[in-house]
Amino acid sequence: MAESGKSRSFAPSEEEIGQLSGWTTANTSCPHVDQLGSLSDKLPMVDTPCISCGEQLENWVCLTCYDVLCSRYVNAHMAEHSTEKGHPLALSFSDLSVWCFSCDAYIDAQVVNELRPSFEVTYLKKFGVEAPKRSEGESAAKE
Ligand SMILES: [Zn+2]
Ligand SMILES: [Zn+2]
Ligand SMILES: [Zn+2]
Repeated sequence: MAESGKSRSFAPSEEEIGQLSGWTTANTSCPHVDQLGSLSDKLPMVDTPCISCGEQLENWVCLTCYDVLCSRYVNAHMAEHSTEKGHPLALSFSDLSVWCFSCDAYIDAQVVNELRPSFEVTYLKKFGVEAPKRSEGESAAKE
């Protein structure tokens, strides 16, 4: 009896990216952010294939070493990488969510200061525009 009842409960489309604030499943803190790599400008392009199997679509970037590896729904190379290297945090190129393998949870990259640069850089690469700010007072006032 396979008790892998965790189906792919969410898979935001690109239009939904702007509505990430609706998530209730993301943690707003993570004690593993001190294991992040130093510079978010090392982030690879969002169409970088998995370095292990060449998967093109469902990839994550390791936020410690910036290797690109596929999701658990493909060959789980990112999960494998995290276990092998002890790199806890990965950012999805599909929906820009951040998963912490150590917390076993999504982390809200727009709330956690250490993660926000990686999120914003990737967002810019993916959509060609700056990530919408989530702060209430000053929404996109500049443009
Ligand atoms: Zn792979
Ligand atoms: Zn890594
Ligand atoms: Zn964590």
